[in-house]
Amino acid sequence: MSTPIQFFKKQEKIYPRRVWGLFRKLKWLAMVLLLAVYYGAPWIRWDRGMNVHDQAILIDLSHTRAYFFGLEIWPQEVYYITGLLILAAVGLFFVTSLFGRVWCGYACPQTVWTDLFVWVERIIQGDRNARKRLDESPWTFDKIRKKSLTHLIWLMIGLCTGGAWVFYFNDAPTLMEQIVHFDVPWNVGVWIIGLTFSTYLMAGFAREQVCTYMCPYARFQSAMFDKDTLIIAYDNKRGEPRGKHKAGDSWTGKGHCIDCDSCVVVCPMGIDIREGLQMECIACGLCVDACDNVMEKIGLPKGLIRYDTESKKPFKLIRPRNLWYGGIITLISGLMLYSLLTRSALEMNVTHDRNPLFVKLSDGSIRNGYKISIINKSQDDTHYILTVEGLDKAAMRVQAGEEVLPTNLSVIAGSVGHFRVFVTSQKQAQVRQKVVFHATNKDGTATTSKESIFMSESK
Ligand code: SF4
Ligand code: SF4
Repeated sequence: MSTPIQFFKKQEKIYPRRVWGLFRKLKWLAMVLLLAVYYGAPWIRWDRGMNVHDQAILIDLSHTRAYFFGLEIWPQEVYYITGLLILAAVGLFFVTSLFGRVWCGYACPQTVWTDLFVWVERIIQGDRNARKRLDESPWTFDKIRKKSLTHLIWLMIGLCTGGAWVFYFNDAPTLMEQIVHFDVPWNVGVWIIGLTFSTYLMAGFAREQVCTYMCPYARFQSAMFDKDTLIIAYDNKRGEPRGKHKAGDSWTGKGHCIDCDSCVVVCPMGIDIREGLQMECIACGLCVDACDNVMEKIGLPKGLIRYDTESKKPFKLIRPRNLWYGGIITLISGLMLYSLLTRSALEMNVTHDRNPLFVKLSDGSIRNGYKISIINKSQDDTHYILTVEGLDKAAMRVQAGEEVLPTNLSVIAGSVGHFRVFVTSQKQAQVRQKVVFHATNKDGTATTSKESIFMSESK
């Protein structure tokens, strides 16, 4: 009988063992800092004056506005978001080309939350062997208690994670009050529930499978590697031939690897780094800590597994590839900074009427219609003066629901004023005459101009 073809490898549960050492400490530090930033950032206040949100980081979807401390991003300025995303991507390439997959090992949300979930599991169910035994044992009251408590805490962490996420899109104290009173808008509730369960599933069950099968970064990371990139490497020359070793035995003819498997059992990805660099390795360094501890115990130098380069040459920070990445980062940051520093609190959009293109009045003059939007990005209600340039003896009428003076167009703080504008002039020499609208605030500190056209009949 033929064996059926297996398309999927059965997931074998990984029970990472606890480890002590430098890289474990760095991982704890990264986890605490990142979680503190994630959960705490929406609660930072930033005074923006009356009638404006005082949340330092907020994406206000209902008013199509994003706030980042002193910066307010309007929908027209979405290029700042694009710039930030490009910077994040190139920054990741830059770091990867230098230090390999340290993002994956220390800062990726999947790694951080999985680490937190494994820590909870370990506190309640014990270390690797105890957890394995518990899983293999029949269901008893103690097993049910330990498992239920673990899943309950995981769900609570998931709930906090989903809860914190929605605070980035709503005023955090107001939303918290609504949550406490079970009075949240349905869409916010859906997000909280969705993120609670996705955190629970991803960090509690999918874990390393996300890194291996779902994350595209694992697949193309090698494109950023070269022979001088830092990777986690097992020193084959020093370690082999591996074998068990008794205290007092000679090392002659033996490698320094005592085949204790410590590096394997601590690995959150369940791989054996002695088989060489593998796609699954997230460069977390836990196997380095485990092996260093073993080397210390048996009185051999540390570093049998270490961060090293494939070329085995001393690590070089400045290389052509990094200069390219660094150059792109500097260029984009420079452009964004320049744009921020020269950013105006006033913008204007002008749309010429398409139908009719113009109206000939009874006295023979020509009237053109426009829709003009004045965007007041300042935090003060402002009055603007609107003028038009490029026409002889032009007259302007402005309507904003009712007739208003072109010298007194009022736009409230942080909003867009919409105006219907009619410009009347004599027939022009050209059918399509270029005109320029200028909008200036009353104290003359902000001004903006926009080109448009004035259409006449042909002679
Ligand atoms: S921890 Fe070190 S000594 Fe033990 S198996 Fe791994 S490489 Fe060998
Ligand atoms: S092999 Fe080492 S560095 Fe790579 S994932 Fe496993 S423990 Fe982390």
